[in-house]
Amino acid sequence: MKPSPGHIPLLGWSRKQWEDWLTDRDCSPVHAVSLVREIHRHGELSLERMDSIPQHVRAALREQTECALPSVVESNCARDGTRKWLLRLGCGDVIETVLIPAAGRATLCLSSQAGCVLNCTFCRTARSGFGRNLTVHEIVSQLWLVRHRLQPEMPVTHVVFMGMGEPLANLDAVADAAHLFRDPHAYSMGCRQVTVSTAGLVPGIDRLRQVADVSLAVSLHAPDDVLRTQLMPINARYPIDDLLAACRRYADGGSRKRKIIIEYVLLDDVNDSPERARALAGRLRDLPCKVNLIPFNAFPESGYAASPEPVRNRFREILCEEGIVAITRRPRGDDIAAACGQLAGKIRKPRAGMPWADHSVLTHGPLPTASGVAG
Ligand code: SAH
Repeated sequence: MKPSPGHIPLLGWSRKQWEDWLTDRDCSPVHAVSLVREIHRHGELSLERMDSIPQHVRAALREQTECALPSVVESNCARDGTRKWLLRLGCGDVIETVLIPAAGRATLCLSSQAGCVLNCTFCRTARSGFGRNLTVHEIVSQLWLVRHRLQPEMPVTHVVFMGMGEPLANLDAVADAAHLFRDPHAYSMGCRQVTVSTAGLVPGIDRLRQVADVSLAVSLHAPDDVLRTQLMPINARYPIDDLLAACRRYADGGSRKRKIIIEYVLLDDVNDSPERARALAGRLRDLPCKVNLIPFNAFPESGYAASPEPVRNRFREILCEEGIVAITRRPRGDDIAAACGQLAGKIRKPRAGMPWADHSVLTHGPLPTASGVAG
């Protein structure tokens, strides 16, 4: 879709889009590199100061572009150094972005939607309802703001789409943002530095393989369909066999072999028994993967509790004995509700009346999208 004049979102366009735009205006497409570098590498948004861009190009940019950034509503820092920002988008919805520092790296956890439709029973984002998909500009803004304004002294080395929302339900925007993250003139991240985490939208996994070269994480959380459907209603539509087949295609595809990250949140007395650990190992035997065991991060009225440490350890040992690589992810930022599944944001007007508020839409018929219902 062509934006109307004056509405090209400065942070949302790829180098290729700028090249085409410049060519349409009889300007040399080489300026696209300078523009992408000014904006994303140097954090420069003022056209006056973009000295590497000729005046006539800047004049056209001035007329045709805009750059509304999300505003910071709140900023918190946890005891372990994790930082969380609440960002208000132009429409009033509030999303969350979390920066997780660790030895030699800093990972930014990005939101791809305001709210979420998938209703995983253990996830807090599900409780806030669904607002809308974020645009490319809004997704990239989160990294741009943290990198260039909010925490420039802690350069982000990795991004993970593990904030609010289901990234594969907003695949076009997520893939375009990922291209910018990977662009050597923009954020220059490698394919292992950009991770898309999904609750298991099988067609989305197949499309992601074709349109982006990024790491894939899959939220599995149960080795059998009965339990997984209870925890994640989307499983009724894409059961585990289909999901793992898509993971295998993803692992085989692309220029190199890729390992899938399998996420498994450990819920006390729900999915953490030794039998389930063995069943999980059986399911994963022929998949190149690594399992991330996530301690459940509690939130009020979740109805779940975290598995005790000895249970978690036993679960991991069984996986390792069965030849599966498994690590336990340390909860980060839980004292400021910044850990996995604690992100709630504030959706100004949840789309309660929209078709995806009805649970059956997740299991039958066309999948919900931001603009309505699509195949
Ligand atoms: N929609 C994507 C991204 C969601 S958040 C997905 O489902 O993968 C990233 C991870 O946090 C997912 O594995 C999700 O299942 C997990 N998660 C959700 N709620 C959680 C909670 N309360 N405690 C721990 N992990 C949680």
